Amino acid sequence: MYCIHCGKEIADDSNFCPHCGKYVATNGPVGTQQMSGNVYRSSVDDDNIGWGVLGFFFPIVGLILFLVWNRDYPKRARMCGKGALIAVIVYVAFILAIVLIAIFFVTLGIIASGGMMSVCV
Ligand SMILES: [Zn+2]
Repeated sequence: MYCIHCGKEIADDSNFCPHCGKYVATNGPVGTQQMSGNVYRSSVDDDNIGWGVLGFFFPIVGLILFLVWNRDYPKRARMCGKGALIAVIVYVAFILAIVLIAIFFVTLGIIASGGMMSVCV
């Protein structure tokens, strides 16, 4: 077939044009050839919450999947990305809370020791 963007000849089963890099598949991604005999429903783009959960518990994996699936499986990629994003926000908030608590106690300690010193002097 020919690329609908640049008009150059490309392989029939390719999803992306090797010349201009644009998405050329007309009837969705062909999952059967990529997965080579795997019965897994890879050709269907789904927004299963499981992808979000996966992205949440493994933000790095979620981020990679988001980047890999961004073009072929936008719904899935979005779920993975969303899960990873929520995980990052939760982790950052968690670390921030610990740091704030640590600063609070350190400050409290300094005030306490300063008070002790003034009492001694
Ligand atoms: Zn092209």
